[in-house]
Amino acid sequence: MTDSVRPAVFLDRDGVINRKMAEGHYVTQWSGFEFLPGVFEAIRLMNDSERLVIVVTNQQCVGKGIVTMEAIEDIHLRMARSLEENGARIDGIYVCPHLVSDGCSCRKPAPGLFEMAVRDFGRRGICIDMARSHMVGDSDSDILAGEKAGLATFRVTSNYDPRRCPGGTGLLEAARRITGNEGKRRMAM
Ligand SMILES: [Mg+2]
Ligand SMILES: [Zn+2]
Repeated sequence: MTDSVRPAVFLDRDGVINRKMAEGHYVTQWSGFEFLPGVFEAIRLMNDSERLVIVVTNQQCVGKGIVTMEAIEDIHLRMARSLEENGARIDGIYVCPHLVSDGCSCRKPAPGLFEMAVRDFGRRGICIDMARSHMVGDSDSDILAGEKAGLATFRVTSNYDPRRCPGGTGLLEAARRITGNEGKRRMAM
């Protein structure tokens, strides 16, 4: 059996998919999770382009004891369900629950979450084509992590809302550029 080879778009979560809380505050339950404008359409576009859509997120609030991993998983289950209800699909979610001081290999800017995804999908017979894949994030650590993993990177405006800050770049613009510019490697803003 030949493995299927697919490009992926890796997405940061907070500030890209949902509204990021103020520094030091975290989304600890579903009621605190607010999708940013354009996200459903963005993910639909990526789904339609046959790309895998994989979330890679640092959640040190778990390591800090502010929220349990079970609560994070509950939020992600509801996030996936809401996306599905809006015709959009997430193919995988990878979480680093560690603190900076844990020195783990998965907290971005380390590339461990990407490596986990490649391994998991590989076991299921799906080869992620990293050379044709992208990382979309709103922070330096997202971009660094993406570069370490050999991905083209795309930086978006954190919490982009065209009604509040026209002229920025959100996930929808990123999705349009990525799905419309297959061959273009560097798209950092
Ligand atoms: Mg972020
Ligand atoms: Zn970690």
